[in-house]
Amino acid sequence: AGTRKTGDPLTLPPGVDSEKFIDFIRRVEDIVDQTNVTVITKAEHLGKESYLDPSKVHDMYHVLDEDYFVSSAVVAPRNVREVQAIMRLCNEFEIPVWPFSIGRNVGYGGAAPRVPGSVGLDMGRNMNKILDVNVDGAYALLEPGVTFVDLHEYLVKNNLRDRLWIDVPDLGGGSVLGNTIERGVGYTPYGDHWMMHCGLEVVLPDGTLVRTGMGALPDPDADSSLPPDEQPANKAWQLFNYGFGPYNDGIFSQSSLGVVVKMGIWLMTNPGGYQSYLITLPRDEDLHQAVEIIRPLRVGMVLQNVPTLRHVLLDAAVMGDRKKYSSSDKPLTDAEIDKIAAELNLGRWNFYGALYGPPPIREAMWQVVKASFSTIPGAKFYFPEDMPENKVLQIRDGTLQGIPSLDELKWVDWLPNGAHLFFSPIAKVSGEDAVAQYQLTRRRSEEFGFDFIGTFVVGMREMHHIVCIVFNRKDPEQRKNAFKLIQTLIDDAAKMGWGEYRTHLALMDQIAGTYNFNDNAQMKLNETIKNALDPKGILAPGKNGIWPKSYDKKAWSI
Ligand code: ADP
Repeated sequence: AGTRKTGDPLTLPPGVDSEKFIDFIRRVEDIVDQTNVTVITKAEHLGKESYLDPSKVHDMYHVLDEDYFVSSAVVAPRNVREVQAIMRLCNEFEIPVWPFSIGRNVGYGGAAPRVPGSVGLDMGRNMNKILDVNVDGAYALLEPGVTFVDLHEYLVKNNLRDRLWIDVPDLGGGSVLGNTIERGVGYTPYGDHWMMHCGLEVVLPDGTLVRTGMGALPDPDADSSLPPDEQPANKAWQLFNYGFGPYNDGIFSQSSLGVVVKMGIWLMTNPGGYQSYLITLPRDEDLHQAVEIIRPLRVGMVLQNVPTLRHVLLDAAVMGDRKKYSSSDKPLTDAEIDKIAAELNLGRWNFYGALYGPPPIREAMWQVVKASFSTIPGAKFYFPEDMPENKVLQIRDGTLQGIPSLDELKWVDWLPNGAHLFFSPIAKVSGEDAVAQYQLTRRRSEEFGFDFIGTFVVGMREMHHIVCIVFNRKDPEQRKNAFKLIQTLIDDAAKMGWGEYRTHLALMDQIAGTYNFNDNAQMKLNETIKNALDPKGILAPGKNGIWPKSYDKKAWSI
């Protein structure tokens, strides 16, 4: 890196001196206008801590030093042609660029880049239009800056919610496009966002614009004198995913191979009736039986949505901080956890689900669900109106019908200055696997001084086991322990054949290393594609452990 002068960013891009950087900034200002360029010069650009006002330059939930994962500048293009021009400029200057849509991405690194000093590409600031909501086809076409809250409000304002619902993750402030290409999940029947996307428009690292699937077939009425991104697309782009030939979409998810500028997403038709519910299970060991009950019901679609089986401390944390429940500074014991569960009228495990459809359908489903879970001694059944004081049930009642919330993250305040990492291994929907993952993750959490806070999110044939490692970001010792804990868990899990579905910037290399079948054949394939599409390695180097040939992978390890 070059020598620092006044006006230099806190961190220059690797191998770029301040003269070259200033030159780059001038050139990029010519593209997007200087009002859309911020050089991260002052420490006051750091220090943001609130989900409601998220940082666009660093990781708010930093597990390393706050100023490690930080951009040199943030650039916000106004349209697709500017994104293309920025890609070409970054190639010319060999400057790494890290796209994000909203940059909330809490627990995974926020808006921050993997390589310190990368240029952040703020796709959401200006490119935030809902381009289409099609009622008959039940889909939307979105730009990166559209949040779940935006899309929901659009349906409400246009009186469309009696026709269409969206699916939302726990928090509604993120980008629909960003969350979907990261393969985030929600909790309605459309909870697997990636499964429900249809059609991408992508700027490749060299600036080429691609439409995937049916989008590759031009609309016969399109005016070919318009720039490609403005040409009306094929009418089936959002209706049929695969088009013809190899299906490319996958390489643009969790990927460093393109900047996604438009995405189609299927919406759920309003099912004509809805009822959320909570089933509380009193004993820790009920986990095994519960998961055995869930498997056939879920794969058989009697459980219609993506339900969750939550450990009581997750719910407790949404409803109060740790001090409210305990003055001990040791991980809570089983007796203390039982006491909390009793206070809150909850079980040790709490199952949140919903029924969809007109009354006869819901009643039939509910009979089966209730009879199945009634085989667990002490199981109790509630509807939201039975438990007005249960804040979690009230939030889930909205979430499971696609109404976004910003309240669920309350659990991060379990500790003062709370921040979190997610450890999220995939589990079989089997009692044995669930119990083994729970026991391992709880034991390790406690070894490192943390309470176990977690939930099983039940997909069609697997569970995303989400362990929330909450730590005090202002306590260096706790940060270190949280980091060591997750590193330990990744290795422990790999030994059991368990792998994570997504991770924080600081853990990408380690997890990528566990997916190493046949001498890292998959990584070699990923590297081959990366080097072919991005020979100078400018787009999101290091993302998900994939390093372009222009980087020495070892030198960048953390
Ligand atoms: P959130 O929706 O939670 O705010 P982000 O916008 O921060 O999420 O996106 C999360 C991650 O997804 C980014 O760090 C980046 O790796 C990837 N990403 C987001 N938007 C795009 C995009 N438009 N093109 C390519 N990658 C993207």
